[in-house]
Amino acid sequence: MKIGFIGLGNMGAPMAKNLAAAGHAVTGFDTAGVTVEGVTPAATMEAAVAGQEVIVTMLPNGAIVRKVHEAIVAAADPETLIIDCSTIDVESARAVHDLAGEKGLMSLDAPVSGGTGGAAAGTLTFMVGGSEAAFAKGRPLFEIMGAKAVHCGDAGAGQAAKICNNMILGISMIGVCEAFHLADRLGLDRQAMFDVASTSSGSCWSLNTYCPAPGVGPESPADRGYRPGFAAELMLKDLDLSQTAAEKNGAFTELGRHARDVYKAFVEAGGKGKDFSAILEKLSAG
Ligand code: NAD
Repeated sequence: MKIGFIGLGNMGAPMAKNLAAAGHAVTGFDTAGVTVEGVTPAATMEAAVAGQEVIVTMLPNGAIVRKVHEAIVAAADPETLIIDCSTIDVESARAVHDLAGEKGLMSLDAPVSGGTGGAAAGTLTFMVGGSEAAFAKGRPLFEIMGAKAVHCGDAGAGQAAKICNNMILGISMIGVCEAFHLADRLGLDRQAMFDVASTSSGSCWSLNTYCPAPGVGPESPADRGYRPGFAAELMLKDLDLSQTAAEKNGAFTELGRHARDVYKAFVEAGGKGKDFSAILEKLSAG
């Protein structure tokens, strides 16, 4: 396929590289002038968009996605499928679907889970919103960039799934960190705490797979000084998205709101650039 890829950052660059390595003709554009192995650089966004069968975007936030998608829709061929893989608010996701629809273009919101490691390895999970026909056309590309793609429903359903999942993740990571902190204060060995809770009703991904205590459980960012992984400020961004959505849609998410406040305070107090599991380090420091 002929693919235009807009946004070649930490996530977009390896995703575009994998599409090119699989034999697709990928043209890339990033305002930072990034070049990626196997990807033909375009001098302008319009040059990356015109004549392509699929356009993929991987951008920082909803405002940028709205602006970029306006330019894409203006320059794209009539049969083009537009896939936005950025994590953005549900409203912006639906707005860019509408924009594409007005010009008769197919579109998908397809945020990802799996981080930069998953992007490089081609093992991302895609959560996808949009029509069946659009999903069918995008699926071969998801299979290259990822290990799993779930069609969650209509426009915006991918973003809805993403923010709900990450709200669980933020809350559960704080819970696991608090449990280790309490265990420390009670004189309970961290390994014993892990051995019990990871095989009991306290088990969850934040504990079993991504344990925030160094030297305990499988290897995780805690074992390399909390170098991300998934940075605390990205968790804060996703928790902010979940709380904006909760407020707009009348959902009661008290723990989600509290988790957002915990990450906001953490990021502002020097946690920026650290993995989101470093909440344990902060609790231990008192
Ligand atoms: P990033 O900041 O590394 O990359 C974003 C890229 O977009 C940058 O290279 C920037 O120059 C480019 N850009 C900005 N405005 C542009 C424009 N108008 N036109 C073209 N290019 C433009 O961010 P990232 O870590 O790659 O994340 C991208 C998205 O993926 C975000 O929405 C993020 O929330 C989401 N995400 C990130 C991770 C992660 O672990 N990094 C995991 C899951 C989802």
